[in-house]
Amino acid sequence: MQQVVGKQDITILADRGYDDSSSFKTVHESGVTAIVPKIRTSANRSKGLFTKEDFVYNKEKDVYECPAGKDIPFSFVSTDKGKPLRAYMSAMACKSCAIKSRCTTSTAGRRIRRLDDEDHVERVAQAYKNMPNAMTLRQQTVEHPFGTVKQ
Ligand code: SF4
Repeated sequence: MQQVVGKQDITILADRGYDDSSSFKTVHESGVTAIVPKIRTSANRSKGLFTKEDFVYNKEKDVYECPAGKDIPFSFVSTDKGKPLRAYMSAMACKSCAIKSRCTTSTAGRRIRRLDDEDHVERVAQAYKNMPNAMTLRQQTVEHPFGTVKQ
C-alpha cells in the first residue's frame, strides 16, 4: 500500500487483493480515500451477459436501474458469510424484457445483490475511475523499492 499525502487528505493506493468492503468502511470512516482495482470475478461477463456494473444503484429510490431502463426494486435480505445481503429483483419486468437473453438465463428474472456496506465499494470504484494512472504511480513508486528490499 502507498499513501499519497496532500494538504488535507490521505489517499491509499492498494493492489488487487485488498478489495475488501469491510476494510473500505473503516478506511473511509477514518477520513482516508482508498483506491483499489477491483478483482473481476463475474461469470456473467464470460458468458456475454450484463454484469452488475451495467446496473446503476439509485440510493434515493433504493432500486437498481437495469440496462433496459427498468427500476429493479429491493426484494429480500439473505446472508453471506454472516453479512446481510440485499437482493433486488423484478420477475414481472424481466418476463416481458426484450433484452432478457443478454441479461439472465433464469426464468425467475435477474437478481442483483448488494452488501450493506456497498456504498464504500462504489466510492472506491469511483476513486479508481477518477485516478486512471493510480496503479502506474503505485508501480513506479512502490514495486521497485520493494523488489530491491526483497533482493
Ligand atoms: S432481464 Fe430484467 S433486469 Fe435484465 S435488462 Fe431485462 S428487465 Fe432489466
